[in-house]
Amino acid sequence: MSTPTSVENVVIVGTGCAGLTAAIYTARAGLAPLVLEGPLPGGQLTTTSEVENFPGFPAGVDGFQLMQNLREQAAKFGARFEQALVTSVDFTALPRQLVAGDRTLFAKTVIIATGASPRMTGIPGEKELYGGKGVTTCATCDGAFYKKMEVAVIGGGDSAAEEALFLTRFASKVYLVHRRDSLRASKIMAERATSHPKIQCVWDSAPVAVEGVAAGAVSGLKIRHVRTGAESVLPVKGIFVAIGHVPNTAPFASVLDTDEGGYFRPAVGTQIRTNVPGVYVAGDCADHVYRQAITAAGMGCAAAIEAERWLAEHCG
Ligand code: NAP
Repeated sequence: MSTPTSVENVVIVGTGCAGLTAAIYTARAGLAPLVLEGPLPGGQLTTTSEVENFPGFPAGVDGFQLMQNLREQAAKFGARFEQALVTSVDFTALPRQLVAGDRTLFAKTVIIATGASPRMTGIPGEKELYGGKGVTTCATCDGAFYKKMEVAVIGGGDSAAEEALFLTRFASKVYLVHRRDSLRASKIMAERATSHPKIQCVWDSAPVAVEGVAAGAVSGLKIRHVRTGAESVLPVKGIFVAIGHVPNTAPFASVLDTDEGGYFRPAVGTQIRTNVPGVYVAGDCADHVYRQAITAAGMGCAAAIEAERWLAEHCG
């Protein structure tokens, strides 16, 4: 065990909706939280254009702007921000320890709000052509690169429907490739996507390979009909993978309870308490059901209040 140089009241890991809401509440309570920013500051909402369902914004709000606002609000009350990627933790004793690169941070309480990352299909060519070469997980970030081109979206949930609809602003045609014969997206999103003149649904089709590896740029998506086994190639320049997310819980999974999907499993009867006293979880890393900005914010708020009470009770 390392020897503490300074011990934080609360370390918040992650700066999505959950982490920043926890930061606002703990900062406003005078706890001067240390907030650790990972590889995607602001979290998943920064890759969304218009957020239409966050309460309080009848005209919608830009996702990036919303996260900037939360960050400013937390900083105003005294939250401190540092870039640090937590790679392992030691929660066996107090203070709790978090290892980030060559540093060890010490904290009386910890709020983990590390979110979830896009799931990938793992088909050949996907990895080789990811990022700038035609395979991406973010239409908002990369859609504008595909003006007047044909693109494919893989997936059948709300994310896939949303990505496909967004891409109609730029692409000449959007293939929505799904391995079933109907979308699992919400009714309103499914209707919007399936009735859009620029979107062609490619049902019962699983992705097989991304073509174009030798040339260093996507030239097509090979698909296979799940019933007939027939293979064909969609002539697309861009492939948007929208098949769900994987929770970012790996650095903590050896000490905190997780479920079969890797999501944190909070203590029975709570959404945010863990098996370690004073350590809380919030947002998409602990929620595979609702996964909304507002539910993540609510969990962040609850975790902050729990941390505050724990500190008052155990650290005077
Ligand atoms: P999701 O609902 O889990 O859907 C993932 C989709 O990807 C499913 O259709 C699944 O197929 C497909 N899939 C998974 N692995 C695949 C693979 N290896 N190859 C091909 N297809 C694969 O994920 P999501 O769309 O990201 O949504 C997650 C949650 O966020 C949901 O609760 C959703 O309602 C919410 N959300 C809401 C909004 C909104 O309200 N505006 C926007 C985005 C997301 P199967 O159907 O066969 O399982």
